[in-house]
Amino acid sequence: MIEENCEKIARLCLDKFKKLPKQGKPTAGQWTVLAGLVLEYENRLHLISLATGTKCLSGEERWKAAKGTILNDSHAEILVRRGFLYWLLLQFKLKEEGGESPFVIKVGGEEPPAGDKEPPIGGVEPPVGGEDPPAGASGEELLEGKFELRAGVRFHLYSSHPPCGDASIFNIHEQPESNGTERTDAGDVNENIGDPLAITPKQTTDENKEPPLKKLKLDTNRTGAKCVLGGKMDPEGEGVQYHSTGPIRTKPGRGDRTLSLSCSDKILKWNVLGIQGSLLSMLVKEPIFLSSIIIGSRHFNLESCERAFSGRYPGTAHLPNLLQCMEVEFEYMKTDDRVPSHDSLLLVTGEQGFKEAYVSGFKQGWSKKKLSNPKSWSLVSQKNMAKLFKSVYPSLSNIDKYSDLKHTSAAYNKAKADFKANMPSWPPKDTSLANFSLLDME
Ligand SMILES: [Zn+2]
Repeated sequence: MIEENCEKIARLCLDKFKKLPKQGKPTAGQWTVLAGLVLEYENRLHLISLATGTKCLSGEERWKAAKGTILNDSHAEILVRRGFLYWLLLQFKLKEEGGESPFVIKVGGEEPPAGDKEPPIGGVEPPVGGEDPPAGASGEELLEGKFELRAGVRFHLYSSHPPCGDASIFNIHEQPESNGTERTDAGDVNENIGDPLAITPKQTTDENKEPPLKKLKLDTNRTGAKCVLGGKMDPEGEGVQYHSTGPIRTKPGRGDRTLSLSCSDKILKWNVLGIQGSLLSMLVKEPIFLSSIIIGSRHFNLESCERAFSGRYPGTAHLPNLLQCMEVEFEYMKTDDRVPSHDSLLLVTGEQGFKEAYVSGFKQGWSKKKLSNPKSWSLVSQKNMAKLFKSVYPSLSNIDKYSDLKHTSAAYNKAKADFKANMPSWPPKDTSLANFSLLDME
């Protein structure tokens, strides 16, 4: 089923992008990454959110910004997921207000449509909460998991480029300097792209064995993402000795190191904990997993994607179907002669959907001096997402601190603690960055 839909999903994303006005799009001579989140239900595909972007804030920029107002990570894969969360909150709000959603039901409130109930997405069990849920600010006991997706709803992530970090590390044929195709240090993303090796079923990842294609000189496709301290580091030797595979990395970037982890690391976390994140864990009956990841690029390596998105995790990760779609190409894909675009955009479909264009994590058109104005903040900024969340879950509306709101789901807290225990080099979050008030959003 998914193989048949792979090209349709890619086309849905690319066609929608083409129809968008040019605000936030790359200009001539620039490249970006396009990502889309597509819902599949009853043999129909629905585009939920669409995003472009290659940038994230440096650690310094993040410290300087007013907390919760700026988008820290504008890589397309990350933005498109925030758009998905916003869309899902809107669906829950609709149900809460007595409306109809074709994809979401209230737990205990109604029966799913006739037909055999399918197993949960990815065929998985929800994480088990180890403690009693905390009481809400109003003193009443919190109810986790008010909503669930209709049986058969599935989500597919499309990206026009392999995600940065571990998934981008794979062996390539070394290319001569004069061959100008696609071998590049492109701006601050700093990834070299060469020809991926054809993967044969018997190919091994054992680094101690000789490469299968002995006569060809091998190199490693490089990622600009840097290993986090405290784990395995890159040896930075010649050719295939340049990178280590498996470590957690921060996103590529020049200057002050960013605090954002690479897209490969974030996707691994989604495959263990679900894509719904901490806030929406309070609302969904069970975690939501991606059914597939479709890479619309010839620079796709199945083995490195499997390793990055699941194989390097010692516990249970739910590996989505991994597919390559070469039939349609993104018009602003990365090439040697293009520089990365600084702009990004996000589209969320549906009745209360929106389109926003960003630069440096805030809405385009705003001067840096006026960023205290909430109108300059993205609808998917932490503050605005928390506001929408509270409107769906009013019994939490008295919680002031964003960090407290993020920690209300006992099941998610437990699952996240287990995840971090399995990944000891996963860097701890600086809790002070989430320590901001939400009451000024009322
Ligand atoms: Zn990325």
